[in-house]
Amino acid sequence: MGNKCCCRGSEPPPLRKPEVDVIIPRPPHVTVTIDNPLHENRQPVIEDRNRSAPKRRIMVAMYNYEARDSQDISFKKGDRMEILDDSDGDWLNAVHLITKERGYIPGNYVAAELSVESEDWFFENISRKEAEKLLMSEENSRGTFLVRPSEHNPTGYSLSVKDWEEYRGFHIKHYKIKPLDNGGYYISTNKTFETLAELVTAYTKNAYGLCHVLAKPCKKPQPTMWDLGSTYRDKWEIPRMEISLIRRLGRGNFGEVHYGKWKDSIEVAVKTLREGTMSTAAFLEEAAIMKKFRHKRLVALFGVCSEEEPIYIVQEYMSKGSLLDFLRNDEGKQLEFEELVYIAFQVGSGMEYLESKQLIHRDLAARNVLIGENNIAKICDFGLARVIEDNEYCPKQGSRFPVKWTAPEAIIYGKFSIKSDVWSYGILLMELFTYGQVPYPGLHGREVIDLIEKGYRMPKPTSHHVPDEIYQTMLSCWDSNPEKRPTFEFLTHYFEGFNVTSEVPYREVPD
Ligand code: ADP
Repeated sequence: MGNKCCCRGSEPPPLRKPEVDVIIPRPPHVTVTIDNPLHENRQPVIEDRNRSAPKRRIMVAMYNYEARDSQDISFKKGDRMEILDDSDGDWLNAVHLITKERGYIPGNYVAAELSVESEDWFFENISRKEAEKLLMSEENSRGTFLVRPSEHNPTGYSLSVKDWEEYRGFHIKHYKIKPLDNGGYYISTNKTFETLAELVTAYTKNAYGLCHVLAKPCKKPQPTMWDLGSTYRDKWEIPRMEISLIRRLGRGNFGEVHYGKWKDSIEVAVKTLREGTMSTAAFLEEAAIMKKFRHKRLVALFGVCSEEEPIYIVQEYMSKGSLLDFLRNDEGKQLEFEELVYIAFQVGSGMEYLESKQLIHRDLAARNVLIGENNIAKICDFGLARVIEDNEYCPKQGSRFPVKWTAPEAIIYGKFSIKSDVWSYGILLMELFTYGQVPYPGLHGREVIDLIEKGYRMPKPTSHHVPDEIYQTMLSCWDSNPEKRPTFEFLTHYFEGFNVTSEVPYREVPD
């Protein structure tokens, strides 16, 4: 686009990035403390209260795992391991009960034996929309199912089943599994069960009014590894010789981004810092933020090579690249409306996590969301992110912004808050539903600021189908009063429940 627009004072020459009007350089004074992120987001094991707890802590493998270094051990799905020490967060020190090998195992690859989490049909950490996405995969036939904790009832569960009907093809039905006051569960009050496992077993034999008998559990996707291996569980400096750069993926603001491998086996993305472009400390700030904040909708940071130049930031590799490029390429252009809603939901969910942690991103845009297999979306580029204490963050004078994505109060008064991120999310929604169109087409950044101040908002596009309801949501993100903008929690639930097919959200089996 080329039009650069600054909000204040004098600033260094604009940095390259095609659709960004201006970029704010990181203030060098901000420090980010890195506390141990390993315990973040870990869910407590929910023991099925009707089963007796095992005396020794035996874990059962939910996936195959190949040892990555000398400290961890390999196992196959179904193998049993006894836990010797679990004080290392993500990595459990264990002994394999068949091979007798001792070493670390990744905690999210195993589940306590006899716990509900060890059941193939139990999906601990997914939402309704994610359940639908997984079940709709072509490999799943009618009757494929999963059970997940209810999002509305902390003691209840939901059963999601893939169904097929002639007039609407494949679709997912959801049933509430309600807890009984004195223990046990039911879907229909005339059939009660002591445990979830008994309930599931009964419905695998007889549909009892469900759309279909429960046929086979949905396949569980491999969990994200937060570290490259157990050696990196408490450090993040990676020996440079373990990283090989294979091909260039793109150019970042401060250097190139490469596809590479760790120890010639694990795929990684490596961000490099071009010498002399910015201070090492500022570059490492981004890494520190990524290491500290961990969520399945944020790109995972594996570590850094910071002992010599050029510095590397080693991240999880996202095979389909940035959302912006993806929306504009052949595959992205074919995305159905439902998939766009799913991406909006995922980005909202990552931002909901940041909102809960009081972290503002400040550069939320389609270019800063990455897409992986099955169109998994994750937020990246925390170069501008800041942890805030008083709901607001005011950058130094002379800062530069991606104007078309930045809320007016942030541009004019330098007031960044999670609500200015909500504004940017509204712009991202417009990029998404127009398959990567430049926001405010034909307008320069300076013109945009003037128009926004006068109350102008991007009109509903005529070139693409954007339902009125979604356009109204964008407008709510662009409310001139930041307080009136929705929360990310609201936006996530909005897109999660967005009724693409106008189906009733939940069905219960009639008594
Ligand atoms: P910068 O923050 O320095 O501007 P970006 O994070 O935007 O750099 O990365 C530039 C490009 O590199 C992205 O648009 C994307 O195509 C690619 N890229 C960055 N990180 C990854 C990753 N983790 N996986 C795959 N591709 C990536």
